[in-house]
Amino acid sequence: MKTEFFKEPTAGAIERVGEILRAGGLAAIPTETVYGLAANAYDPDAVKKIFEAKGRPGDNPLIVHIADVSELAPLVQKVPASAKKLAAAFWPGPLTMILPKSDRIPMEVTAGLETVAVRYPSHPVANAIIKAAGVPLAAPSANLSGKPSPTSARHVFEDMNGRIDAIIDGGECSVGVESTVVSLAGKTPRLLRPGAVTLEMLRAVLGEVEMDPAVTDPLAEGAVASSPGMKYKHYSPKADVFVLSGTPEAFVSYINSHCDETTAALCYDEEAAKLSCRTVPIGKEFDFLTQAHLLFDALRKCDALGMTRVFAHIPRKEGVSLAIYNRLMRAAGFKVIYV
Ligand code: AMP
Ligand code: MG
Repeated sequence: MKTEFFKEPTAGAIERVGEILRAGGLAAIPTETVYGLAANAYDPDAVKKIFEAKGRPGDNPLIVHIADVSELAPLVQKVPASAKKLAAAFWPGPLTMILPKSDRIPMEVTAGLETVAVRYPSHPVANAIIKAAGVPLAAPSANLSGKPSPTSARHVFEDMNGRIDAIIDGGECSVGVESTVVSLAGKTPRLLRPGAVTLEMLRAVLGEVEMDPAVTDPLAEGAVASSPGMKYKHYSPKADVFVLSGTPEAFVSYINSHCDETTAALCYDEEAAKLSCRTVPIGKEFDFLTQAHLLFDALRKCDALGMTRVFAHIPRKEGVSLAIYNRLMRAAGFKVIYV
């Protein structure tokens, strides 16, 4: 398949992508979190093509993207007070809500679940494309399944050229990690995936919010995942990733005594000069927003440099760093070295 590549999100490009989506095609579009691989959420055949293009397991449901708060109601059975409060506080933005689905949503979108995940993104190009398509768009991240999510059109091109109808370049994604996912389908709101809307922010609006154990820990054998996506190996470069737990001094000395030509360190900016291996700085120690923005690009860079082993700091489990913890621990297959 020939993939149409739009270098700029011009009005003409947005119109054309809307047309492709209405006709049942697939297009990769920028959002503020990561690039999404979009299809008409009402068209089961179009949605099936997303799973094929990504090599995504059939039991991993998709997020439906809308361009106005009023577009939520037709997709769900009812809009509870908690959803209204979250929408008022965080939409448009990097927050996905899970609610019991309406009949409008085909089972292909939810991978057979009775609930649907919905997000209203803030990226102006994403909004313009949803409006041009005239339908809600089902869109997971636009990477091959298992790879780090794409935060630039170049990343999408690496994974998807020849597999989808179109890619539209809207620049780098500002957030850089996928949306926060919160389920409102149970008695108590539950964080299923951390993101830039933090657990602390959700609690400030809703009061009690539970954290699913899969946010920080590997799924126990035989357990059922509340968010099916969390059970798969994810976000992985080809290199073997190890997370190091210890002081910054111990991080530097461990790496300096264990590195070779194909070892890279995902380090804080201020450490790069002290490390004797290849370094990929991801921001300052407490600058979680920059770290989130750079994380997936850094993992892809390690592959591009031909690295076979990557060492990274164990992220803090607070604020936006909880999202970095969640992604990096999966990229590392939960391999931690205590230094
Ligand atoms: P992606 O868009 O690639 O970041 O993947 C979407 C994420 O949302 C995956 O981790 C899914 O498991 C999760 N998700 C989507 N729909 C649901 C749902 N109905 N219930 C629980 N998790 C969901
Ligand atoms: Mg994904």
